[in-house]
Amino acid sequence: PISIRSLTKAHGALTVLDGVDLDVRSGEFMTLLGPSGSGKTTLLMVIAGFIRPSSGQVLVGDKDMTRVPPHRRDLGMVFQNYALFPHMTVGENVAYPLKRRSYSKAEIADKVNAALKIVQLEALSERYPSQLSGGQKQRIALARAVSFDPRILLMDEPLSALDKKLREHMQIEIRDLHDRLGITTIYVTHDQREALTMSDRIAVINEGRIAQVDAPAALYEKPKNLFVADFIGDST
Ligand code: ATP
Repeated sequence: PISIRSLTKAHGALTVLDGVDLDVRSGEFMTLLGPSGSGKTTLLMVIAGFIRPSSGQVLVGDKDMTRVPPHRRDLGMVFQNYALFPHMTVGENVAYPLKRRSYSKAEIADKVNAALKIVQLEALSERYPSQLSGGQKQRIALARAVSFDPRILLMDEPLSALDKKLREHMQIEIRDLHDRLGITTIYVTHDQREALTMSDRIAVINEGRIAQVDAPAALYEKPKNLFVADFIGDST
């Protein structure tokens, strides 16, 4: 489980995160949902370790990870723009986090194969990212994020560069991958429908604060305040 305790982040006079408390259960698919500028990406980056909070803590299990560097956090990350290395083949991209973790050559080859199999792209391992479609690129980014069997998967608007049809298809694929791996997932989106279809629970964020954390049906049927009611209601 992941526990976020009293997290704040300020940039000068601007408070971006304002006392965020959030518990994510083991194996859960949790979505951070909120309008543009509400602080979703900042919260995810603090959990990943790329941004230091002004105050508060990130715990994984009972370990305080707040000051642990990103590559020691046992988490995989997928970004909106895929962030694949253009000069590396697909196989080399997926191998990258494994090489940083001192696996043997044989283990790396096995794990790259296994990860590519998960996203059904074994046949493309010699290609370069420029030779892939958007959906394929995002599947490779997913394979890279899970290649070293992390306990946690973080995704920041991974589908927003894709067209509607592919996006809907990938929503099912990502949820399915989460279910098969049983990996604790935190997923950022500003798309209400996407959040409602994919998530076990949704944390609605507004102006750096958590407005409500609930299962999709509960958010829909029992919004705690006007902001949540309006924002979730907008999806229909
Ligand atoms: P979006 O959906 O548009 O990406 P978001 O909910 O992910 O929005 P954040 O990217 O977390 O929001 O940004 C929250 C607020 O913090 C915004 O007002 C943004 O301008 C501000 N902000 C983020 N990073 C910095 C920074 N390094 N310096 C100053 N302000 C920042």
